[in-house]
Amino acid sequence: MMQTPLTMTQMLKRAEMFFPKKQVISRTTSGIQRFSYKEFADRTRRLADSLTKLGVEKGEKVGTLAWNHHRHLEAYFAIPCMGAVLHTINIRLTPQHISYIINHAEDKVLLVDPDILPLLEKCGSELNTVKAFIVMTDEPELPETTLSPVYHYENLLKEANRTFSFPDDIDENAPAGMCYTSATTGNPKGVIYTHRGIVLHSLALGLADSGGLSEKDVAMPVVPMFHVNAWGMPFAGVWFGTTLVMPGPYFTPKLLAELIQTEKVTITAGVPTIWLGLLKELEEGSYDTGSLRSILCGGSAAPKGMIKTFEQKYKIPFKHAYGMTETSPLALISTLKSYQEELSPEEKLELRSKQGTLVPGLEMKIVGKDGEVAWDGKEMGELCLRGPWIASEYYKDERTKDAFRNGWLHTGDVVTIDEEGFVKIVDRTKDLIKSGGEWISSVDLENALMAHEAVFEAAVVAIPHERWQERPIACVVLKDAYKGKTRKEELFDFLKPQFAKWWIPDDILFLDEIPKTSVGKFLKRTLRDQVQREVLK
Ligand code: AMP
Repeated sequence: MMQTPLTMTQMLKRAEMFFPKKQVISRTTSGIQRFSYKEFADRTRRLADSLTKLGVEKGEKVGTLAWNHHRHLEAYFAIPCMGAVLHTINIRLTPQHISYIINHAEDKVLLVDPDILPLLEKCGSELNTVKAFIVMTDEPELPETTLSPVYHYENLLKEANRTFSFPDDIDENAPAGMCYTSATTGNPKGVIYTHRGIVLHSLALGLADSGGLSEKDVAMPVVPMFHVNAWGMPFAGVWFGTTLVMPGPYFTPKLLAELIQTEKVTITAGVPTIWLGLLKELEEGSYDTGSLRSILCGGSAAPKGMIKTFEQKYKIPFKHAYGMTETSPLALISTLKSYQEELSPEEKLELRSKQGTLVPGLEMKIVGKDGEVAWDGKEMGELCLRGPWIASEYYKDERTKDAFRNGWLHTGDVVTIDEEGFVKIVDRTKDLIKSGGEWISSVDLENALMAHEAVFEAAVVAIPHERWQERPIACVVLKDAYKGKTRKEELFDFLKPQFAKWWIPDDILFLDEIPKTSVGKFLKRTLRDQVQREVLK
């Protein structure tokens, strides 16, 4: 067989060639804008030309700090297709982590939404490698900013060449994108996505038994484009000629329901928090969601009750999937086998609420304390994955050796697998807290609390939350001299200036002691049970 390179350029070219009439529907601050794929491709080539003129070279990183909209989609293709690396930055991180990420990736140029400028300004003097900032605004004038030099996205595009030609010698194993994922402790860890990985992951997203994404779909990625490439939906969507609906900044459940109705969205993707919000909206309002053939849900466990309501009350098929930043992300998806359709509704729901079976193209093993676990739905082990869209290391990071061993990614997720190969996540080995689809590091909060003069020990654990999936609760042991004298408000005031608002624990409990393991580590699982009994009673 021929050895032709699998690059993103062929994905864009296919869209240009076969689907010029298809649409990208983008919600921005000034409302809904519609672009044909022809316009999208022209603008993408213009952006590549502009970045080239700004001095971006092959292999260099271009960062984005942006919501889901057409300009971000243009960056998704312009940057990799010109041979540079698309670095999507999580705008919900602290300025310290954002500065670290930009410096560590050595971003040359940053593309930023106007409302995110103030956050970036906080990093301003820390950024060592950035040579230019491009503001992706609808307004004719650039906003006031302390950053420099600053360019206007649309003005750059106006002056650029729409027939810019992409290099045709990109290696399929060259980096196309990168994304940082939060760590239990310390700085976020970078993952590089290659052209080949993105192409093969996109194919997997189109398989009938996985995402089944196709030209006929109207796809709305709700999952942010800074979170594992919006699960690859923009890449695959453009390749397949899918109509894309980009929900833009600060969307609400109402807005999502309206977009589903008016744009006749057929498939959408996001974390459970989003779907809990949508469910509430559907219960309160009156919407036609008949066009939806699939809600893809992952990032955190999807509650069974939610799946049931979507499917039985609203007749919206729900697909529970599992993945990580390190896995591009699609790795497991809960699709029933033909003969399982005959099971009772309860049995089917049980299976559908598991994370599912392995997507074709990947390999998996589940390792317990005595080797690979039995397929009995009971024995627990760590999920290990390998395959062409699984990362092989963290970018310039010595923590690589913890997760990548003997050719396998050790996910840190503890799972069981049943007789039919359906995997269920039972716990995480790490104790990060996932609120609204974003990580909160318990260790960072603990360290901050323990820096307070009155605090002897502090441990932060998650409790389940109806809207956000999980929220942090802090458990604090006060020093003897402060017992009975320190109020929780004092500790809240101490934390607030140090963290993003959504990181602040929902409550602070004063305990006499924190349960510990034999080596003196906090016994988080026991503590979590204790706190859940206390808080949720
Ligand atoms: P991230 O890299 O931010 O996407 O987070 C990846 C982690 O999210 C995984 O290691 C799991 O712990 C968790 N996760 C992802 N999908 C699911 C799911 N469907 N159910 C439960 N946990 C999940």
